Amino acid sequence: MLKNKAHVCLRCRKVIVYNATQAGTSLPCPHCGETTNLPADRSFHPEPKKKPIGKMLVVLTALLAIGGTGSWAIFSVRKKLPDSAKTLPTVLTSLIISNKAVAPNTAKAKGVHASISVTEVTYEPQQIFHSALKKTVRTETPVCCIRVNIENTGTTGIPFHSWRIFESLSRAEKAALVGSMNDKFSLVSFGVESVPVGVFRKAEIAPGEKAIEKILFLCNGKPATDLTLSLPCSNVGGDGLVYITIPARMIQ
Ligand SMILES: [Zn+2]
Repeated sequence: MLKNKAHVCLRCRKVIVYNATQAGTSLPCPHCGETTNLPADRSFHPEPKKKPIGKMLVVLTALLAIGGTGSWAIFSVRKKLPDSAKTLPTVLTSLIISNKAVAPNTAKAKGVHASISVTEVTYEPQQIFHSALKKTVRTETPVCCIRVNIENTGTTGIPFHSWRIFESLSRAEKAALVGSMNDKFSLVSFGVESVPVGVFRKAEIAPGEKAIEKILFLCNGKPATDLTLSLPCSNVGGDGLVYITIPARMIQ
């Protein structure tokens, strides 16, 4: 069970693992001694559960917990559910089902014309572009990189906020990854203005446009079991969560 956060040291490029209470502080890197600002995060990610009904309740719980913005509040009130999932209107049931997919199949975000798919998963050192240093460096530590494609299937632009941890001070929600034993993986950050090479960096996805996102997680080796990635749809202007199951055989 990994509950720690992970940050890549800009000097030695090794991963520094730290806990929530150390977030937002500066500490010497345990590998090279360089003073490093450990990014703060707004919150830990919601925890997806296994059963479909459980997931539904988790979505609602997450919506209620997040609360804050108007759209979330409206959504949570509108979707107050009857006791049994069997009595759900067909439309709502189909919406809930379509937000799940097994990679490389596509899931649909609720409340917005966006389709989301996982196209590649690798466990290896990653190329990171540091804007401040104007150079690309390779991480020393291998990490799990999930490549996600987001396609705007509508006729108007949709917003895009990364699910990575680097936007730690923004209101964007974060991705979460769990294994088959419900073990959680930590997001890896590189500091503000540092992004994996090849990701989409605009704030809006045009109609018909495909955006590439790469989300990096800390792993103690190549994952051997299926993984489940959950992505809050608010990052693309939608509602709820998308769940994508990643078969172990897809991890390279
Ligand atoms: Zn270091």
